[in-house]
Amino acid sequence: MNNFTKISVSVFGVAIAVMTGIAEAQSPLAADIDQRTAQLEGKVVEWRRDIHQHPELGNREVRTAKLVADHLRSLGIEVKTGVAHTGVVGVLWGARPGPVVALRADMDALPVTEQVNLPFASKVTTQYNGQEVGVMHACGHDNHVAILMGVAEMFAEMKNQLQGTVKFIFQPAEEGAPAGEDGGAKLMIQQGALQDPAPDAIFGLHVMSLANVGQIRYRSGSLLAASDRFLITVKGTQTHGARPWQGIDPIVVASQIVLGLQTIVSRQVDVTQAPSIITVGRIQGGIRNNIIPDEVQLEGTIRTFDDGMQTDIHRRIQLTAQAIAQGGGADAKVEIFRDLPVTVNDPALTERMVPTLTRVAGTNNVAVGPLQTIAEDVSYFQKVVPGLYVFLGSVSPGIAPEASPANHSPLYAVDEAVLPLGMRVLANLAADYLFGK
Ligand SMILES: [Zn+2]
Ligand SMILES: [Zn+2]
Repeated sequence: MNNFTKISVSVFGVAIAVMTGIAEAQSPLAADIDQRTAQLEGKVVEWRRDIHQHPELGNREVRTAKLVADHLRSLGIEVKTGVAHTGVVGVLWGARPGPVVALRADMDALPVTEQVNLPFASKVTTQYNGQEVGVMHACGHDNHVAILMGVAEMFAEMKNQLQGTVKFIFQPAEEGAPAGEDGGAKLMIQQGALQDPAPDAIFGLHVMSLANVGQIRYRSGSLLAASDRFLITVKGTQTHGARPWQGIDPIVVASQIVLGLQTIVSRQVDVTQAPSIITVGRIQGGIRNNIIPDEVQLEGTIRTFDDGMQTDIHRRIQLTAQAIAQGGGADAKVEIFRDLPVTVNDPALTERMVPTLTRVAGTNNVAVGPLQTIAEDVSYFQKVVPGLYVFLGSVSPGIAPEASPANHSPLYAVDEAVLPLGMRVLANLAADYLFGK
């Protein structure tokens, strides 16, 4: 081949790539991923039904973890078990060097008694906080586990074509550890889940009733709220209900604090920057109609989407409660417990990977989703590693998502068409990232 021919061929190649925009935008594994998804779908459905029928609460995912670890080992994947109690971390080294990408699935179920009429519905019961409860995969984590097991199998089979490393993170206790225990993403990180090797990016997904199956919702930047708990103890002085001037009434002070807290969100923080929520969910005090008690407790939740605003709101809650109490001659002790940080999708990574989502699901099926005031502990992983976390609609066609039972409902049901889509989403996100697409 002479020089002229070489040049014209390469120019022609570039022209084709630019015209189609597709050849350049996907990894060389894309066609293989589609084919292997079709082959593995039956197995993934079976795994999902098996896990669904045998749900386990947070930090108790023993059977699920064994299923995962045995599967990964059978594929020749390096496996660490017992990470954050029951977590499993697998590492698959591709034949060629390249970046490291992590894929995360949560494994725990909820203390909910299943009411869905399925042949593989859960009949499991257990003890939770001293109560006998049903156990159900009411958040759909059974799907996440099965999807990631399928993705592990297809990548293990494509190991020789793989450039870089895939880390599989099967996480326990996303919904929170049982009282008195630690667990979840935070503990996995403390126990080295993001080391040896350290991922360059992390991807995850959640099935959700917010859209029909086939739909993907994503969001750049803040996605899910930070969730914090507060406890305010108002101290007054007990007296007769008919002689209030002889004591200090903590019920009246607590009532003013409830209203004062609402003005933080509505009057004090810039609502155009990000929304925020302060909810008092519990008020407790008093024992009898004609006794003014000496103490009232207020307990509630705070939801924010920005680290700075979160700290600012904590300070204002403290100030508001104490100043109102002081005005009434009472005293307020304010305790704020940081629970989960805000989940942030890395903007650069999100921008880079959205073409993968649209290619996999179709442009019309991918849209920017709303901010969610719920919280997720994937936030801990995404604080350490740039991440992209997406939602997959789980509602069957023909049913309006808003009329469909939400995640955590005893009636929450997933259309299993989400399984092959989830496999293609995670596998293509990983492959496109590893091949620099
Ligand atoms: Zn949940
Ligand atoms: Zn969940």
